[in-house]
Amino acid sequence: MSGEAERWWVTGAKEEMSPRDILSEPLVGWRAWHVVYENSLPVLVSWSLNTTWPARRKLESACERHGPRPHRDHDCGIHAFKSRDEALAYAGFLPYEGLSFVRAMEGRACVAVGRVSLWGRVVAHRGGYRAQFAYPYELFLIDGDQGIARDLARRYAVEVSDEPGRLAA
Ligand SMILES: [Zn+2]
Repeated sequence: MSGEAERWWVTGAKEEMSPRDILSEPLVGWRAWHVVYENSLPVLVSWSLNTTWPARRKLESACERHGPRPHRDHDCGIHAFKSRDEALAYAGFLPYEGLSFVRAMEGRACVAVGRVSLWGRVVAHRGGYRAQFAYPYELFLIDGDQGIARDLARRYAVEVSDEPGRLAA
């Protein structure tokens, strides 16, 4: 998918949005989420921030300085990695020499790792993307169970597997 994605990048410093920065077709990145219960149903919470991902509607970036459109020279936007292994490593499930952010969360039911659709204005950089809009595409639970998978699938209307072994496939 990197070839597909690269067509949309713009390299070099750039402050104004150009048509080439705007994705009309989503690209797909990888992320990790905490799965916590809210009103008896599991929800996805961002790994490093306590953002609850809405169900059946897009998550939109909101930077205090730049609004919803991620700025090239800031770290705003909804983050995603280019590869599954980078997302797993970031969350501490794979040994990795680079960026890692192991984080426990009180009340966490399990962890979800999976693919996420990104669109709107998307800034690509080494290791990942920062997007204006995002929505989960396909999830794999780590230490989850069938009940959580079923409830998450129903809530977000995406495929959810409780077999993390399928991640390796
Ligand atoms: Zn910003």
